[in-house]
Amino acid sequence: MNPDVPEAKYRLGQKVFLSATNWGPESAPCPKCKGQSRIVVEAFEQEHVVHCPACRGAGTIQVYNYRTTTKPDTRTIGSIRIDTSEKHENKVSYMCRETGIGSGNIYRESDLHSTEFEAQTVSAAKTAAAQAQRDKTHEQDEYGVWREKRR
Ligand SMILES: [Zn+2]
Repeated sequence: MNPDVPEAKYRLGQKVFLSATNWGPESAPCPKCKGQSRIVVEAFEQEHVVHCPACRGAGTIQVYNYRTTTKPDTRTIGSIRIDTSEKHENKVSYMCRETGIGSGNIYRESDLHSTEFEAQTVSAAKTAAAQAQRDKTHEQDEYGVWREKRR
């Protein structure tokens, strides 16, 4: 054993599960009309029911959130790279049969897991960390849009 060369956790041909967090739009009930599509406005001392201006009567809006993948993607280890000049967590990386060997995606060992459960657990932790990081600097307005906090 060479103590300067880290050992790879996964073997060639081994099936692994990816942990990831997804950032993207999802549908949510409109916060202004509470998903009712219409609101009541007062004009000339009368109440009028009108289409909600926030969601244009759809009842839902798109919000951007971090989400955990419920079903982690699987990969098959196709090549193992060990680079001792990399930072600790990136010293061992992999290329996978599904995404190309030689050229294609490079996966850090810390993003790959031997069980689906472990990948889900790590995905949930990554999602919570990303959400917490954003919550420090951003807040949602009444329409569900994330904006940078004013100081
Ligand atoms: Zn609405």
